[in-house]
Amino acid sequence: MSGTGVGTARAIGNGTAIPFMRRNGPDPLAAEHLRLFRNYEAMNLGWFWATDAEGRITYISEGAARSLGQTGDALIGQDLVSLFKNPNDEADAERRRTMPFQMARQARFDAIPLLVDIVGEERWWALSGQPARDSRGGFSGYLGHGVDVTKEQRATRESIRLAMYDPLTGLPNRRRMGNLLDSTIAAFRSQERACALMLIDLDRFKAINDSLGHPVGDALLKQVAERLATIVGNPEQIARMGGDEFQVILPDAHNRVGISDLANRIIESLSHPYTINGSRCLIGASIGIAVSPFDASTSDELVRNADLALYAAKGGGRGRARFFSSDLLQVAEDRRQLEQDLIDALSNGELAVHYQPILSAGSEDVTGFEALLRWNHPKRGRISPAIFIPIAEDANLIPQLGEWTLRQACMDAAKWPGELRVAVNVSPIQFASEALPAIVMSALANSGLKAERLELEITESVFLGETAETDARFAALKRLGVRLALDDFGTGYSSLGYLKSAPFDKIKIDQSFVRGTTEEGARNQAIIAAIVALANALGMETTAEGIESFDQLETMRRLNVSHIQGFLYSGAVSAADLDKHLENGKWVLKPQGPARQRHIRHTTFRKVGVIHDNHYYPAVLKNVSASGALIEGIVDVPEGTQFVVDLGEGQMVVAIVRRALQHQQGIEFEQPLVEDSNGALTTRHRVSPKVLGEAGLQQQGHNLVAKTGEGLALPAFHTTTEWNGIEV
Ligand code: C2E
Ligand code: MG
Ligand code: MG
Repeated sequence: MSGTGVGTARAIGNGTAIPFMRRNGPDPLAAEHLRLFRNYEAMNLGWFWATDAEGRITYISEGAARSLGQTGDALIGQDLVSLFKNPNDEADAERRRTMPFQMARQARFDAIPLLVDIVGEERWWALSGQPARDSRGGFSGYLGHGVDVTKEQRATRESIRLAMYDPLTGLPNRRRMGNLLDSTIAAFRSQERACALMLIDLDRFKAINDSLGHPVGDALLKQVAERLATIVGNPEQIARMGGDEFQVILPDAHNRVGISDLANRIIESLSHPYTINGSRCLIGASIGIAVSPFDASTSDELVRNADLALYAAKGGGRGRARFFSSDLLQVAEDRRQLEQDLIDALSNGELAVHYQPILSAGSEDVTGFEALLRWNHPKRGRISPAIFIPIAEDANLIPQLGEWTLRQACMDAAKWPGELRVAVNVSPIQFASEALPAIVMSALANSGLKAERLELEITESVFLGETAETDARFAALKRLGVRLALDDFGTGYSSLGYLKSAPFDKIKIDQSFVRGTTEEGARNQAIIAAIVALANALGMETTAEGIESFDQLETMRRLNVSHIQGFLYSGAVSAADLDKHLENGKWVLKPQGPARQRHIRHTTFRKVGVIHDNHYYPAVLKNVSASGALIEGIVDVPEGTQFVVDLGEGQMVVAIVRRALQHQQGIEFEQPLVEDSNGALTTRHRVSPKVLGEAGLQQQGHNLVAKTGEGLALPAFHTTTEWNGIEV
């Protein structure tokens, strides 16, 4: 390294002076500067570059050139910007655009991370640059500095990945999905584009996780994620929200048929067996769907409404997909109100235990009673336990409610004559509690009821989380001497395996199963016969529940069921009434009811609105088919009249009256409805709330109303296509 600094710089750098070179001859300080400069470059901690006014490289440290697989000389004259390429990530790409932008403005820039354009290697440089001036003060190019930041960049991206992606499945996490949903909904709002959101919840996952262990649960979730990605296509549209909950975002999806097809394909795929470490497991999935802007205008609202739909899907028997509809909001509100009321119900004495007789099938002797909770709500009257028990379970009120019922039932039963038994329903939540045996013992001791007169009815869902604890609980209860009954057999998974492993004294065959025996003939009968035979062999009793007619009674007797319970003998009566019936030491009951079981006819009614001449009439649709329906609630409509039927949630269809009766009209839809894959009939497209809003309308509950409170001012569209034409 000899000669003047300027000379050396020229040899490398195509004529641009290094800034700290004095122009007037050699300078001892300049030599020192150069030495430091060289040393810095040699240490490869960072390097220097310079460009001319057009952004072409005039100098670049050898170290930098080397890492590009080039020499400094070869790079001279190249566009500096061309050394870098566009990263995949949008935020990184945005930063890449900053550099040329700053350079065009002749502005200074600091440590911009840029992806170097090298094939097959990922290398990041952070570049800083300062505009240089020539002797006349004009812009002469850039002088800059660069460092390799590949490691830091990787670490940053890794931490972003960790913060935005689920480490188990590699799918976006709740946070990333939240951001994506927010930005999509916000952007789509002005563009009038639709966006569907699916919430997916796995059925029975918890049972597998609990029984086969977390590593199996984790492996299962990974496979679920893979199957979802295969069906949905783009994994960036899928998120794992935590636990066994997934979300799928579907931009521009508003065709309900298409969406529900996809949902059903997802359910089908997730319901195929999984093989994990050689064991096979089976789960299911339930899906709730909401579509903006029809069901929601903000992302929060969209998530909440998809969640309500999911809740309804699960309540409707799981393994299905459900769209949000506005009545679910009312259902949720009712439920919230009931939950609030239930908290007070116990202390206000609104709850009572009633008793339904259980008889021996042969002798018709009453052998005991099932304790059934009754809630007399101050405003709503009687509310069924089928409604309030699940609410109590969700609201964590079961421990209190269950204990109260148990104590009350034991006290009442202790007063009954003879050996009459009392059967008390025990929720899986109570069963899961370690405190249950002690509570049962205390209820027996306080009431003086003998243990063998108490029967606990347990549903098979207690086996879902089967662990050593389940067995221990069974054993502890058996040690107390109480009887155990398996309730609602035939409604769930109905595995006969439970019967062998758990110490039941009785199986209660659910009324839905009993119904099936007279409806479908042999199949259910053969199953009941098999259950009864197995129960007999294991020394268990059997009770057929919900016997309402003589033909059912005969069938159950023929199948050798040992006990009968149902309205044919008696429903549940209050404790006071029961005491009266037992005054003579025995309640003699004779069957009373229809000879044959009545078949329930399913007629579906659908509340709709009819829009005619800018008036809105509430009406009811019956016998809906794809092409037409019967409509009730509007009178004296002549044949040939055309009106718009509002099916709710922005579904509008133009209809023509084909047959006019006094209170009922046969209507034909101008365009046929389509069936979504859950069998619901819908219009293919919907009218967005925005479009309705522009017409001065808004959805209120189920109805459309004028925003101003005056008459409707409907868009002048006379065909479904025209309505559809204004859908988003
Ligand atoms: P479950 O334990 O299967 O009770 C039998 C249900 O069938 C009762 O309904 C009973 O009134 C009804 N039933 C009896 N005979 C007939 C019939 O001939 N026809 C028809 N259609 N129904 C009949 P209920 O009282 O409405 O109770 C519903 C469910 O609520 C019960 O089903 C039980 O799971 C739950 N439940 C009731 N009381 C309690 C309680 O104290 N604790 C808990 N955890 N659950 C309870
Ligand atoms: Mg029961
Ligand atoms: Mg039952």
